[in-house]
Amino acid sequence: MSGSAALFETFARAPLAFERGEGSWLIAESGERYLDFAGGIAVNSLGHSHPHLVKALTEQASKVWHVSNLYEIPGQARLGERLAAATFADKVFFTNSGAEALECAIKTARRYQYVNGAPERFRIITFEGAFHGRTLATIAAGGQKKYLEGFGPKVEGFDQVPFGDLEAAEKAITDETAAILIEPVQGEGGIRPMPPQFLEKLRALCDKHGLLLILDEVQSGVGRTGKLFAYQWSSIEPDIMAIAKGIGGGFPVGACLATNKAAMGMTAGVHGTTFGGNPLAMAVGNAVLDVVLEDGFLDAVQQKGNAARQALASVVDEFPTVFEEVRGTGLMLGLKCKMNNGAVAGAMRDEHLLSVPAGDDVVRLLPPLTVTEDDIRQAVERIRKAAAKLAASEGAK
Ligand code: PLP
Repeated sequence: MSGSAALFETFARAPLAFERGEGSWLIAESGERYLDFAGGIAVNSLGHSHPHLVKALTEQASKVWHVSNLYEIPGQARLGERLAAATFADKVFFTNSGAEALECAIKTARRYQYVNGAPERFRIITFEGAFHGRTLATIAAGGQKKYLEGFGPKVEGFDQVPFGDLEAAEKAITDETAAILIEPVQGEGGIRPMPPQFLEKLRALCDKHGLLLILDEVQSGVGRTGKLFAYQWSSIEPDIMAIAKGIGGGFPVGACLATNKAAMGMTAGVHGTTFGGNPLAMAVGNAVLDVVLEDGFLDAVQQKGNAARQALASVVDEFPTVFEEVRGTGLMLGLKCKMNNGAVAGAMRDEHLLSVPAGDDVVRLLPPLTVTEDDIRQAVERIRKAAAKLAASEGAK
C-alpha cells in the first residue's frame, strides 16, 4: 500500500489504511486488527460503528442532509439547548471543526468588547504550548513558530505568555486586551492539565479587568476527562468555550458556546457558515450526547481512566529508560517519554496499538470513552512489549 502523489504532502502518514472499525478496534485492508488508542485524535468518542450513531446518521440520511442556515434546523435547536443545559452557556453557534469554533470564539470576544464601547479591546492572551487550530487566526493564537512560518504576517492581536504563569498573564493585560484563551488541558502541548486553582485565578483576573475567559475544550471536552467538560473539575465557568472532536464522534462537528452576555455582539449577519450545524451533523451530535449523558457513563470513564493510569504507572516504573511519567485525567492520558516519542509511538504501532505523539515528548492515549477493561488490559500489555523492545535496543547501544 502506498500514498498518492495527488495529495498535498502536508501529512506524514503511516503506511496503513483501515477498512472498517468496531468499538476500540480498527481493521486494516490486510485484515490485521489494531487497538485504536488514537481515536482519530480524540474524535471517536464512542468508538467505531457505534450502533446508536450509525442509526442516527443513516435515519437522518434518508430524510434530509443539508438545508443551510437560511432555515430552521430542529436538530440544531435541540443540540444547542442540550449543550446549554449541561454547561454554563446560553447560546451556541455550530461549526464543522475545532479551528472554526475557535474563530467564532475569538470573534465573539472581540465583538463583545466592540458593542460595549471598547473597540480598541481586541487582543487576546494565550499560553505557550497551546494549540488552537491551523487557520490564520488560530496559528497566531497558538503562537508556535513551526505553524506560523511562511504564511505572511501573523494575525495581529495575540499575546503569548509562558505556560501556567499567572503573573505574566496579568502583566500582559493592557487597555487593548479583550480576553484570555486557554485549554484546561493542553492536548497537542503534551497532556498538560491546568490545576483548577489556576483556572480559578484566571477567572478572577478576567473579572478584575473586564476580560472574557475563553476555554478551548476541542480536545478535552465531551467526556474525555471523565466530566462532560474539563472545566467542570474546577469551580469556574467560562464566558465562551470552543468544542469539536468528540461531539461528532467522527462526523465533523464543532461549536462555540457562550453566555448571553458574551454573545451580545453576535447579531444577525455578523457571522455565518454554510455547512455548520447541518441536519446530518446535528443528528450525530445529539446521538453522541444521548450516550455520554446516560446515567453512570462519565463515572465509568473516570473509573476506566483511573485503572488505565494505574496500570500505565507500573509500566513507567518498569521501563525507566523509556518513560518518565504518566499524565492526564480520565481517558485523556499521556506517557512522557525519555526517548523520541515518535519512535515510542512507532514501537507501539508495531504491536498493533495506535497512539498519537504530542509536544513535550509525550505519547497520547485517547481511546474511545466506550473502551472496555479488557481493551485497556490489552493496550497496557502492548505498551509493555513495545517498551521492552525499546529498552533492550537502548541497552544494546
Ligand atoms: N483546539 C484544540 C485544543 C485542538 O486539539 C485542536 C485539534 O487538534 C484544535 C483546536 C483544532 O481543531 P480542528 O483540527 O478540528 O480544526
